[in-house]
Amino acid sequence: MIADRPMSEPGIEPSGVVAGVYVDSVSEEPNNDLVEPTAWRPRFVLSATRQIHMAMGREDLLKKVMVVTGGSRGIGAATARLGAARGYAVCVNYRQSEAAARSLVQEIVSGGGQAIAVAGDVGCEPDVVALFEEIDRALGPVTALVNNAGVLERQMRVEHMDAERLTRVLATNVTGSFLCAREAIRRMSTRHGGQGGAIVNLSSAASRLGSANEYVDYAAAKGAIDTFTIGLAREVAAEGIRVNAVRPGVIDTEIHAAGGEPGRVERVKASVPMQRGGEAEEVARSILWLLSEEASYSTGALLDISGGR
Ligand code: NAD
Repeated sequence: MIADRPMSEPGIEPSGVVAGVYVDSVSEEPNNDLVEPTAWRPRFVLSATRQIHMAMGREDLLKKVMVVTGGSRGIGAATARLGAARGYAVCVNYRQSEAAARSLVQEIVSGGGQAIAVAGDVGCEPDVVALFEEIDRALGPVTALVNNAGVLERQMRVEHMDAERLTRVLATNVTGSFLCAREAIRRMSTRHGGQGGAIVNLSSAASRLGSANEYVDYAAAKGAIDTFTIGLAREVAAEGIRVNAVRPGVIDTEIHAAGGEPGRVERVKASVPMQRGGEAEEVARSILWLLSEEASYSTGALLDISGGR
């Protein structure tokens, strides 16, 4: 539970400016009143935030807790930024990019938002369990999950793919999305005493195009995400949870370098009816819309954000 505390108490920034926290440990310290300046406590941060929101008459914002997996860069970072701007307390999950995640958290906090960074590989079950437990402690239970973490590997034909590669691609793109959704549902579902919520999965236009000669494994994993979205949406629709997916086309991020072609957007853009690649922020806006009450009757939807491709 997050306790209300006056802002003059130890651990609260005296200026009332919302402080950020950086979390890479899941340990809970027993004495909440002893706060080192270098280890700000999430509970104090939220307490300060609550007072600010109450003063602004926006206490309802405190119910909005978002986790963005793989959120330290690209579409995930754009989503975390926009989510913070729309009043979410944001957890930026990252696998390896600690510095980038920390920097993003600082940026959000500097802008008056609330954010934490938590390490974890979404394809690793204990990491996912620990991630959501840390969010419980630091921010409260999630109300919005963005299953953004995704990987592709070097472009090659299927006849050259080995089992290790397929396992890696499926572990992050598919297993990771399932595990994070499971943890979110356990917190959101009215069946489990939750207050509902929304999930957005990052699929891809690749799920319907197939990515021949590049990464059919990645495309097939995104096909699984489409089916996952439809099935899960129906499974939890009566429990206050909406589940949708966005299917971005060619978006200008660093993911293409992993395929061995950092300039892929330039090459492919001529085949896009809008004649350009997309920006991470254009995808983020769609994700935020699907998470919002504006999309209150949308579930199981697969929203193409692909410039007509
Ligand atoms: P990106 O490579 O810039 O970002 C992906 C992030 O996920 C990285 O920060 C990475 O470290 C993280 N990540 C990878 N594996 C992880 C794991 N196991 N656990 C935790 N984090 C992990 O890519 P992006 O373009 O921003 O892609 C975001 C999502 O959008 C992905 O799911 C991707 O498949 C999807 N997508 C991207 C495009 C595109 O053209 N950029 C198109 C369609 C779909």
